[in-house]
Amino acid sequence: MHRLTHKNMIETQLIQIEKTKRSRLPETDLEQLEFGKTFSDHMLIMDYRDGKWSSPKIEPYRNLSISPASSVIHYGQSIFEGMKAFKNKEGRYGLFRPDKNIERMNRSAVRMCMPTIPENVFMDGLCELVRLDNQWIPTGEMASLYIRPFLFAIDEYIGVKASKDYRFMIITSPVNAYYTKPVSVKVERKYTRAVKGGTGFAKAAGNYAGSLYPARLANEQGYDQLLWTDATEHEYIEESGTMNVMFVIEDRLITPALSETILDGVTRRSTLQVAKDWGLQVEERRISVNEIVEAHRSGTLSEAFGCGTAATIAHIRAIADGDNMMELPPIEERKLGNKLMKYFTDLKKFRTDDKHGWMIELS
Ligand SMILES: *Cc1c(COP(=O)(O)O)cnc(C)c1O
Repeated sequence: MHRLTHKNMIETQLIQIEKTKRSRLPETDLEQLEFGKTFSDHMLIMDYRDGKWSSPKIEPYRNLSISPASSVIHYGQSIFEGMKAFKNKEGRYGLFRPDKNIERMNRSAVRMCMPTIPENVFMDGLCELVRLDNQWIPTGEMASLYIRPFLFAIDEYIGVKASKDYRFMIITSPVNAYYTKPVSVKVERKYTRAVKGGTGFAKAAGNYAGSLYPARLANEQGYDQLLWTDATEHEYIEESGTMNVMFVIEDRLITPALSETILDGVTRRSTLQVAKDWGLQVEERRISVNEIVEAHRSGTLSEAFGCGTAATIAHIRAIADGDNMMELPPIEERKLGNKLMKYFTDLKKFRTDDKHGWMIELS
């Protein structure tokens, strides 16, 4: 047993830790990583049974054994989160705004009829796991330890109903830069990611399953990603792939306002805040494809980018709407996107003043 003493928390929850007998780190090359395929030595597990949470356990990373009747497999009661730990060359490491992910996970849980996770237990378990495996955080400029918390239904029952029992887990994966090159996106006018009254604001597993087929069609047509539009008119822009999306038109930063069809991204929030700090005019509102087409035609659309934990800022090189292929200005000329990327990298590597207190240092 291990008593927590980390900063920023006064909780003294007991976490049972079973350390691995043989670390896989020596045989892992942290400079050569394929995204999402390498996992660190440990994982966190906490079960919800008979209406209450057990205490969290940290164990060696290993396969699970579950019943083929586990309700998650049949009806998809499953949610997840994505965040990162960063480490600089001097060995300082920490998490970027994990409190936001914890809150969002619980909003997802409520929507999917699942139990919420006590925030302090989540935070303690997360910090303890990252501390234990901190040697797995790569220190490369664009590298990080990707953290994947998830919660799924485990009842052994194939009737359609909310499961009684659940499992919460956290696994971590060292990663290098996610997107290396700027993307081309296709305005999606047929398929829909999220509808009013649906689950689009939640990080629910099924949302992603449903987006794979239209994304594959776009890939086959030569585009990297989709630019999702609203479900009724297919005219208002929502998100880009699995990222929030932003545009710079006449020095104004414009992004779709939050709604139940848009995921409340931590990168989105942080980007808007930083842009405001820098004195930019920020607009959160509806934005039509037509407005983008017009801005492009008149030469006032200077930047477009996706925002998300995986890539931070993913420059959009071109937007295709049917036959209209809109090429955007060269990446070197993108003042805001490049400046944001540099700012966030500096912040996460503890090289700049953290005026909002977004980094939770664990070292
Ligand atoms: C996770 C996600 C985002 C980005 O959220 P971050 O908190 O910035 O990583 C945006 N859109 C969708 C659909 C997502 O799943």
